[in-house]
Amino acid sequence: MGEWKKLAVKDEISQILESVKSSGRRELSEAEAKKVLQLWEIPVNRTELAKDMNDAIRLAREVRYPIVLKISSRDILHKSDAKGVKVGIGSELELRQAYDEIMKNVAAFNPKARIDGITVQEHLPAGREAIIGGLQDKSFGPTVMFGLGGVWVEIIKDTSFRLAPLTVDEAKEMIREIKGFPILAGTRGEPPADIDALAAIIEKVGKLISEFPQISELDINPIFVFNSGKGATAVDARILLGDGA
Ligand code: ADP
Ligand code: MG
Repeated sequence: MGEWKKLAVKDEISQILESVKSSGRRELSEAEAKKVLQLWEIPVNRTELAKDMNDAIRLAREVRYPIVLKISSRDILHKSDAKGVKVGIGSELELRQAYDEIMKNVAAFNPKARIDGITVQEHLPAGREAIIGGLQDKSFGPTVMFGLGGVWVEIIKDTSFRLAPLTVDEAKEMIREIKGFPILAGTRGEPPADIDALAAIIEKVGKLISEFPQISELDINPIFVFNSGKGATAVDARILLGDGA
């Protein structure tokens, strides 16, 4: 990114963070968080916020089937826990059913949850799932975390950490350090995952968390890592603002 472009991007991101804060929220919606990542040149799947069923149908035509629907509610942290995620929706008929089901599930999960809408997203083919995190650590300052996504992270705690900002080479070390590295390197005839793309994204997350001290926490969970040469794309993202924001 050239210097002028970077200034413009930083300005635009600051404005998003500022508008979230002035609406009295501490957490960006998934769509807002992905907008920040996209401005920072981190690949994300296309994600549009729909206000109602008709809006969702219209957006699905733009995004193109197959799509994913996800609840967007400031009161729901883990969308899957509320059964608020439906992937692989192939038609308008399926969309209508999935939409109604999600709304019903979410109401059963938490009748008081405020619904901000439902996101209509590009469905991506399954990749190996990883997680990238960023944090303003109380003692160490800006820090990045890397691990394998899904159950792996939560159960095995197989993660690596570095101070931010960090170089792409340091990011590659982080990737090689985790116990699950063979899953990314390719085992039993499976091709290697795109570790270069993943390292480039970790480096960008390191810069993002360093340059925006008002971001207290950031989570990409999961990022789909495709085969070597095919890149990596964030399909879920959270950004939290700190007290001092
Ligand atoms: P949660 O809030 O529960 O973390 P996610 O947005 O991470 O919700 O979605 C849950 C799971 O659904 C992901 O871990 C991923 O496996 C799958 N998923 C999410 N988005 C997509 C997508 N766009 N394309 C394909 N699969 C997806
Ligand atoms: Mg997630």
